[in-house]
Amino acid sequence: MSGNRTFTMIKPDAVEKGHIGGILNMIAEGGFRIVSMKLTQLTVADAQQFYAIHKERPFFGELVEFMTRGPIVAAILEKENAVEDFRTLIGATNPADAAEGTIRKKYATSIGENAVHGSDSDENAAIEGAFHFAGREQF
Ligand code: GDP
Ligand code: MG
Repeated sequence: MSGNRTFTMIKPDAVEKGHIGGILNMIAEGGFRIVSMKLTQLTVADAQQFYAIHKERPFFGELVEFMTRGPIVAAILEKENAVEDFRTLIGATNPADAAEGTIRKKYATSIGENAVHGSDSDENAAIEGAFHFAGREQF
């Protein structure tokens, strides 16, 4: 994957509340092209692997439970400077700190149930995208 791609998930809270369309609209308005996309559900093992970097954090169990409780939308997105620009579009982890006009400001409930994921580096974007999509599914 090139440096112009990032990986996102619309998390179970936002899917449950019917916000897939609203969030995809903000992603499109933000100038991102959809490279790959599907509705899927993480297993406990998937979520533990995906968030392994946080395994010593006190909220790890809660995070895994949350991320596996229902379907998510997984997608690879493309844009110049994708990783950084998408982090700007989603806003701060805690919606109380998220800027106006960001996805988390509009759709997140709490620091845990915060509506969307965005990769934090080009390296992680490639790893996370490959976790969900085969090369032939990347358009
Ligand atoms: P992100 O990169 O902005 O998604 O934030 P982090 O990498 O710091 O954390 C990963 C995810 O763990 C967040 O998006 C939240 O869903 C969850 N998380 C982070 N901090 C907390 C917390 O204090 N409590 C709970 N319950 N979940 C948290
Ligand atoms: Mg992170």
